[in-house]
Amino acid sequence: MDRVPIFDGHNDTLLDLHLPERGGGRTFFERSDAGHLDLPRAREGSFGGGFFACWAPPHPESGWTEESALTLTEDGYEVEDAPPLDPIYARETADELAKILFRMEDESEGQMKIVRTAEELESCLRDGVLAALLHLEGAENLGPDPGALEDLYATGLRSLGLVWSRPNAYGEGVPFRFPASPDTGPGLTDAGKELVRECNRLGVLLDLSHLNERGFWDVAEMAEAPLVATHSNAYTLCPTTRNLTDRQLDAIRDSDGMVGVNFAVGFLREDGKDEEDTPIETVVRHVDYLAERLGIERVGFGSDFDGAKVPREIGDASGLPKLLAALRGRGYDEAALKKLAHENWVRVLHATWGG
Ligand SMILES: [Zn+2]
Repeated sequence: MDRVPIFDGHNDTLLDLHLPERGGGRTFFERSDAGHLDLPRAREGSFGGGFFACWAPPHPESGWTEESALTLTEDGYEVEDAPPLDPIYARETADELAKILFRMEDESEGQMKIVRTAEELESCLRDGVLAALLHLEGAENLGPDPGALEDLYATGLRSLGLVWSRPNAYGEGVPFRFPASPDTGPGLTDAGKELVRECNRLGVLLDLSHLNERGFWDVAEMAEAPLVATHSNAYTLCPTTRNLTDRQLDAIRDSDGMVGVNFAVGFLREDGKDEEDTPIETVVRHVDYLAERLGIERVGFGSDFDGAKVPREIGDASGLPKLLAALRGRGYDEAALKKLAHENWVRVLHATWGG
């Protein structure tokens, strides 16, 4: 059995650990059957680490839920736009989640580390220490003052998504729709462009997943680092607003960036259905397509563990070896698997963070 560690572009585990109604009160250190990721299952699946997202859910008083906002259409679905968040609420929530990650590091007795440099990431992968990358999903999580980015950077933040799938002061995220183009509205605001410059200056990775297409092109024009979508798939295979068109993929390739393949079944399947009975080959098809379009050096994983329904065959983090086996069966050799598993992430983070 292969033991190449997988570094992964996205999980929402912190929110599961924060909200008992969502995560069932589980902890990161005990094996659970709920959700997708905890330390024992990470070990079983050779999950070597990943981006741990701080994501603020819709404010409970807004009444917006993905279920209640969903309308089925003849050939797919539309989700009514999520309302913008109050930045104070967003920041408080993100702080709570970041606190959980720091506490996990403390309590892990050296089994887990929040990484701030590509060298730290590489030594964690080599030594079997779970590498956690602190990521904000949505810049409203910075709070009312975007200048907070610098303080958060000092505490360990290394990646920022300008938006989740809703508007904020910086830009607009794509509403969830299928089939529908990611070109859903205006590009970045002036504040958004200023934040891109700040990320360039500090060396914070700018995550393009969830950003609408005009926002994507605004970042592409200004970014001084490789373009990265941490958890998105190929629009040609699954035409949802959350996936990347061929033109976007070409821009990512030209910047020597990368895409983390999302295991969310709704972003994998040709019919866009949120159906767990989705064969592992569907993930392989997106890897094939992206590797063909971007080059094998520019594809990785961005599971969306604890944030989405994933194929039953993968199940949770302990099922990752099944995906590697499927890719091996498809003809990917060990060198290619290592690139997909973590080497591409290490390269891109190195280029983005410097050092
Ligand atoms: Zn996401």
